[in-house]
Amino acid sequence: MILALVEHERGLPAEASLEALTLARELASVEGTDLDAAAFGGDGSALADELGTYGVDTLHHVDHDDLDGYAPEAWGESLGQLVEEIDAGTVVVPSTDRGHEVAAHAGVTLDAPMATNCVAVEVDDAGAYELERHRWGGSLLEHARLTGDRKVISAAEHEFPVTPADEATAPTVTEFTPSLEADHLRVRVDRVEASDEEGIPLGEARVVVGGGRGVGGAEEYDQLEELADLLGGTVGASRAAINDGWRPHDDQIGQTGAKISPDIYIACGISGAVQHMVGCKGAETILAINTDPEAAIIQKADWAVVGDLHEVVPELNDALRDS
Ligand code: FAD
Repeated sequence: MILALVEHERGLPAEASLEALTLARELASVEGTDLDAAAFGGDGSALADELGTYGVDTLHHVDHDDLDGYAPEAWGESLGQLVEEIDAGTVVVPSTDRGHEVAAHAGVTLDAPMATNCVAVEVDDAGAYELERHRWGGSLLEHARLTGDRKVISAAEHEFPVTPADEATAPTVTEFTPSLEADHLRVRVDRVEASDEEGIPLGEARVVVGGGRGVGGAEEYDQLEELADLLGGTVGASRAAINDGWRPHDDQIGQTGAKISPDIYIACGISGAVQHMVGCKGAETILAINTDPEAAIIQKADWAVVGDLHEVVPELNDALRDS
């Protein structure tokens, strides 16, 4: 059986978890086995209704008084215990901070090999996994072979477009209560401070307007904000713009920032360094606005305007406002 870890909020699975579920379903189909899901806390039956769309056979709802909030070791231990109890062969987690933390602890509990950020998985005749996986935020593609009866892998973000199953299921919900000791609770999250950023999260936006050092200052982002608003999108930035203090850190796109996959990414005054491009290579279309025709981003973009963004963006805004 393949077991997918599902992160959720208010009964809804997170996007990255649905991507992991898509990979898990592919593997379950190749291996001719069941697709189960595991979720911590919340309302198991509401979540099960959602997961039926994606072909889940059974949802294992993991609950325990000590699992309130987030405790990575305890979550990993609980996942490991569940895998042993239901005899799952492979665990697929989303490539989120939490997914990776929990998977690493579960891998230790299970003494199982783990590979993160997988973009393709093939199963050979011996049951080993031949993997392609991202390293360095996607700037390197690595081939690896994973052997063993149990395996733990994560599905790289934005690499497995979420697709409903051919036939929806009505997942059975089972309750699982792990056996936890004080040692499993050495790390416990007791307080969370959410960023006060408003608007559409970068990773989910269908339109992203990115601004780099070429924008020239914090106030100059107003015209980019307007463009994003007119298109129903959100604003991101290069690391140079973050380092200059023009934008909050949450806005950073790239290897050490957000990975975006919008329908269109409009990159304004951004040179196209490889560390930036790994964050936006999931974009369907890239439009670059840059004064330098030799800028790397001009070669990598689908469309380019060679010109001063301080002229081009206001013109675009005028045209959109009038349309
Ligand atoms: P620049 O490279 O200075 O480019 C500015 C561009 O603006 C130029 O192409 C210029 O022609 C153009 N321009 C100037 N004026 C105008 C104008 N008026 N109109 C139009 N165009 C104009 N970077 C990231 O973005 N994200 C990351 O996650 C990231 N992670 C990194 C991790 C590591 C380990 C390292 C070493 C670097 C990382 N970087 C990252 C930094 C990256 O290497 C680049 O330095 C950075 O992306 C450059 O930002 P930029 O394109 O805004 O600035």
